[in-house]
Amino acid sequence: MEKSPLSTVDNAHKLMSSISHRILRLEYMDASEGEGRECRGITKGVSMRINNIHFEDRDDVRTVSGTVIWEDSDRPSQDVYFGVPQEFQEYLIGSAHPFILGSIVPAARSGERRIAIDGAICPHLTEGLMTAVAQFRQWYGQEFQMPHIEAVGSPIPVLADSGRSAASFLSGGIDSLALLRSNRLEYPPTHTGFIKHCVTVYGFDMGGKEGHSEALARMLDSLGRVTGEVNAQLMPVYTNVKSLNDGLEFWIYQFHGAALAAVAHSLAPIIRSISIAATYDLKNLKPWGSHPLIDPNYSSSDLTVQHVGIRLSRLAKTRLVADWETGLQNIRVCTQINSVLKASSNALNCGKCEKCIRTMTALVALGKLGACRVFPVNDVSKELLKSVVIESDYQQACYEELIEPLALKGRDDLVHAIKKLILTYRMKRSLKRLDQRLSGGKLLALKKTGFKRPDGLRPSRRRGSGDRRLTERHN
Ligand SMILES: [Zn+2]
Repeated sequence: MEKSPLSTVDNAHKLMSSISHRILRLEYMDASEGEGRECRGITKGVSMRINNIHFEDRDDVRTVSGTVIWEDSDRPSQDVYFGVPQEFQEYLIGSAHPFILGSIVPAARSGERRIAIDGAICPHLTEGLMTAVAQFRQWYGQEFQMPHIEAVGSPIPVLADSGRSAASFLSGGIDSLALLRSNRLEYPPTHTGFIKHCVTVYGFDMGGKEGHSEALARMLDSLGRVTGEVNAQLMPVYTNVKSLNDGLEFWIYQFHGAALAAVAHSLAPIIRSISIAATYDLKNLKPWGSHPLIDPNYSSSDLTVQHVGIRLSRLAKTRLVADWETGLQNIRVCTQINSVLKASSNALNCGKCEKCIRTMTALVALGKLGACRVFPVNDVSKELLKSVVIESDYQQACYEELIEPLALKGRDDLVHAIKKLILTYRMKRSLKRLDQRLSGGKLLALKKTGFKRPDGLRPSRRRGSGDRRLTERHN
């Protein structure tokens, strides 16, 4: 079923507009139903309720919505939705699974003691959720508490496999393109693991923000070319589930795997397995919101969630994409949406941010940047590389593996620039560790403020006031 990208963009904005004008109801559970408890000095709520799960048709979009009610007094209740264009309305399920998946990690992080949900939960999924939260607790400590799940509803029969297929998430980034390419190279069309649906999510990196409709249109147009070439169905899903807790670090380190799984479960009538592309390879694995120890726990008896690609380094994945003409011409790694929109009328990448430069340099190392039309330049200069600041061990690893292939191509200018970037990063990292050990990180924090004296120590220009402050301090 072929979709018009522009009509999909219209649908998304109608939906967002409808949601943004909705008045959020303030509902709080009766405090007598449970006892507040102290956790790291904060009085925690005692439970979360999820109810009123229902379908709605708004313009050309069908949604399944549910109301999430927090016990915490500073959070209003919230309607969470998952939506698809009406053409795909039969693919949307009204089960509790997407909602428990969308809320379990924010609830566990907030110390909710239980989640009362209207709807049955597959015991296989419940066990997985407990395992995932236990893993987060292992990584991040005591603040993660597994809420008791009180599901109200008759067990629902497991969906039949017939008519349901394998799917993957597709954003246009190297990880998801490499996953799709690898699937096409390794799975015959008759295999149950052959990806037939590619899910792209509106509501994670550009959803709900004004002015992003043009970027969304470009993305859908580009992804449509990819899925068209591999004969898969592109399925946009609109959701606001991220708004349950949209803190950046929480999203990256803890939440996004569960949110992706929630989206997949909302499409259970058409999907029997979903592949989430790995960010990190085995060599660089670290605690992350989507992880091989986490994602499979988000499976139910209806739907299997897989974390795919940990055997491949970033360069190996880039090579897979670069050797695939359609993939190469539709790479979208940039998240600097405003810069992309300013760059040109059909740009997908700004060509200036770290992620763009890292990908472009990898394509130079593979001899493919010159043939790639989705970046504003067809070569990387040492001056451009010098603008990069490496900020993580993973980024360091990504640049490090480019040194050898770049040297083989005679690009000593880029090799030297990368070595300098890595040296600078290692020096900063060593300094940071030393400062952490000696002062608990205070010296570098002080440096960031320009060694300004705290307000209480600043001399005043007013006559006498400095003396008064000193007096106050000594008292
Ligand atoms: Zn960029």
